[in-house]
Amino acid sequence: MTVRVTILGSTGSIGQSTLDVIARHPDRFSVYALSAHSRIDLLAKQAVGTGAAVVVLPDDAAAVRFRAVWPNGVAMPEIRVGPRALAETAADPGCDTVMAAIVGAAGLPGALAAARAGKRVLLANKEALVAAGSLFMAAVRDSGAELLPIDSEHNAIFQCLPHDGRASAPQGPAAGVRRLILTASGGPFRTRNWSDLHDVTPDQACAHPNWSMGRKISVDSATMLNKGLEVIEAHWLFAMPPERINVVIHPQSVVHSMVEYEDGSVVAQLGQPDMRTPIAYGLGFPDRIASGVGLLDLAAGARLDFETPDLGRFPCLALAFEALRAGQSSCIALNAANEIAVDAFLAGRLRYTAIARLIGDTLDWQAQQTASVIGSIDDVLELDRRARAFCRSIHFAP
Ligand code: NAD
Ligand code: MG
Repeated sequence: MTVRVTILGSTGSIGQSTLDVIARHPDRFSVYALSAHSRIDLLAKQAVGTGAAVVVLPDDAAAVRFRAVWPNGVAMPEIRVGPRALAETAADPGCDTVMAAIVGAAGLPGALAAARAGKRVLLANKEALVAAGSLFMAAVRDSGAELLPIDSEHNAIFQCLPHDGRASAPQGPAAGVRRLILTASGGPFRTRNWSDLHDVTPDQACAHPNWSMGRKISVDSATMLNKGLEVIEAHWLFAMPPERINVVIHPQSVVHSMVEYEDGSVVAQLGQPDMRTPIAYGLGFPDRIASGVGLLDLAAGARLDFETPDLGRFPCLALAFEALRAGQSSCIALNAANEIAVDAFLAGRLRYTAIARLIGDTLDWQAQQTASVIGSIDDVLELDRRARAFCRSIHFAP
């Protein structure tokens, strides 16, 4: 019997890397369902190649397109349409493992549905934890789901922490751990001053020195808001208070993160910057399986540098720490504002340096709202919607 895998966001960077790893192990994994928001032709190719039983499309127009490009003589998968179908497919009894690889808060309902259904959840979609960390982790605990972090830093930390071959949610910080140390490449603008970045283009911001990724996370890496989202992600995944999560810049992206123990030991995970390593780790856990990633030649690479991030150069990182300390509502506002700002920047409608300003203004707005309880996914989505509306209103204000 193979492990049946569903990939939410299969046409993206993580989705494609996941299919690459799965294809190396036909005796071990099969594909149950695939989903995409755009690139319907690629989705059809993936469905033909994997023999997926189900595909999930955003709307009827995409379904028409999918049928039109489907080759004659090949059995067509079941087509499901819309966000509700996406969440239902994540919880579908037809699959065992769900790769949550949709970008942004749009990935939250699917990831949460998979957790509630007790699946093995391979979580790439960090925005789900940023917006709804407590709900998500409660769902994992209540259902007994297995949660394996795919973000390379958190996957590294997971590997460096003691565990008993199970991937359950922790009740508190692991015994004997002093700090988690997240590494950050510093992105394409690591050595440039903030004041020199007014005119950078989306292509310059997306030209990451070490990783090839989707455009949104590439911009997040340039601003280092990505590392801020990852601090919040680590807080939830490892039940670690903010003051025990440290960020260090490591331009080579060879050390993927570290755990510092009470006795002074620092345990690190190293490897090439290729997401197929954490993906294979999550798919195979607790076994180690081939990922297609080459050997790490330390003698050839030679240098491993580390430096403290300059918060003046990376104001978004400071804003994320501020949001984490302020609480769940601020984290929702931080993520919502960032999605609006990065979208506008990628579309050529916003200066790079205005991203941090929009996020800061949205956090200030959130701080003035009357406190509301975030007890359900509807509460999360409602605050997310209001924060987006506020952010748009200041961005488009005359
Ligand atoms: P991507 O942009 O390459 O792909 C995103 C996928 O989500 C695509 O399949 C797209 O069709 C789908 N999608 C987009 N909007 C959607 C919507 N509204 N509804 C349903 N589906 C939608 O992104 P990526 O780089 O693969 O990143 C995916 C997630 O993984 C992000 O949360 C990112 O932060 C995280 N992540 C990515 C990397 C990486 O190396 N790419 C590393 C760590 C974490
Ligand atoms: Mg990461």
